[in-house]
Amino acid sequence: MPAIYTDTLTLPRLPRATADTQEFKKVKGIFDSVSTLEGEGFPVRRPFPTRWLNFADPFLLLDQMGAVDYAPGEAKGTPWHPHRGFETVTYIMDGVMDHRDSHGGGGTITNGDTQWMTAGSGILHIEAPPEWLVVKGGLFHGVQLWVNLPATQKFAAPKYQDIRSNQLALISSDDGGSLIRVIAGSIGGFEGPGTTQTPIIYAHATISPGARLELDWPAGHSAMVYSLLGSGTSGKERTRTKEGQLALFGSGKAISIEADLSQPSYSSYGWEVLILGGVPINEPVARYGPFVMNTQDEIKAAFEDFQAGKMGSIPVERIPHRSEADTPLEG
Ligand code: MN
Repeated sequence: MPAIYTDTLTLPRLPRATADTQEFKKVKGIFDSVSTLEGEGFPVRRPFPTRWLNFADPFLLLDQMGAVDYAPGEAKGTPWHPHRGFETVTYIMDGVMDHRDSHGGGGTITNGDTQWMTAGSGILHIEAPPEWLVVKGGLFHGVQLWVNLPATQKFAAPKYQDIRSNQLALISSDDGGSLIRVIAGSIGGFEGPGTTQTPIIYAHATISPGARLELDWPAGHSAMVYSLLGSGTSGKERTRTKEGQLALFGSGKAISIEADLSQPSYSSYGWEVLILGGVPINEPVARYGPFVMNTQDEIKAAFEDFQAGKMGSIPVERIPHRSEADTPLEG
C-alpha cells in the first residue's frame, strides 16, 4: 500500500476525544458493497448506491477500484463521458491514473494523490491508466467518491483541484496507533488541502491491529466508515465491520472504531478505512448515469445539453483512446 505511510511517532498527535461515552455515535447500519465492473471493465466494490443504500448525504457514490493486480494488457479505465451536478473525487493508493477533462484540467495521479473535479454545469472527462501501465500491468487500488452539489451550485463553473500526497494533513491518534491522512475538511483542527463546496470531511486512516481510534466529530455532519482492507468494529458497541462494508453512524459527538487484532496479510499496516461525512444537503436527488440533479426534468435537460455539445467537446490535442461513437453514458 504505497499511499503515504510514515511512522506515527513523527507526526502531530490528535488530542483525546472529549465526548463522554454516551455521546459517541451509534451505528445506524452496516451496508454490504456490490461488486461490479465500471468504465471499460475495471472491478469496483460499491457500498452505495445499492438497493440497500441509495446515497449517503452529501455523498452520492463510493467506488473502491481494486485492489487489482493487472496482468500486462489488462489495465482499464473509462471512455470520455460527461458529468453534471456534482463532484468526482479520485484518490489513488496504488498505481497510476491519467485524467483529462474538456476544461483543460487533468494530470497523472499516483500513490496518495487526489484529483477533485467539480463538474458543476457540465464537463467531459476520461480516466485511464497510462499506456505504459497497460503494457506492463501492475497493482491498482483507488477510490472514487461523488460529492453532491446543492441546487444553487449545480450549474457552477467546472473546476479542477490537483491534490498531491505531500499536501495531505498527516496526523497520529493520541496513542500513536492510527495514521490519519486528511484529504478535505478538518479533524481535530488539522485541515486537509481539498476545497469543498459544502462542509465535508474526507480522510483515509490506517489503524494498527488491535488499536482503537476515537475522533470528535462536528455536530450536524453525517459520519461513515468504509472498510477498504481488513476488518474491525464500529461504535462503542463494537459492531462488526468487514472488508467492503460501510458503517453508517447516527447522531452524536464522536466516532469510535477498532481494528481487529488479526488482519489479512495483504493489509500489512492494519485496518485501512475511509472516514467521511458532511452536512447533509437534504434536497431531492434525481440521478441517471453521469448526471445528478434535483428533478427528472433537469436530468432530461442534461441529456439534451450533452447531446447538443453544451458540456464541451473532447480536446483534439488529446487523443481519446476510444472513439466518441463507442462512448456509452456511464459513470
Ligand atoms: Mn467520471
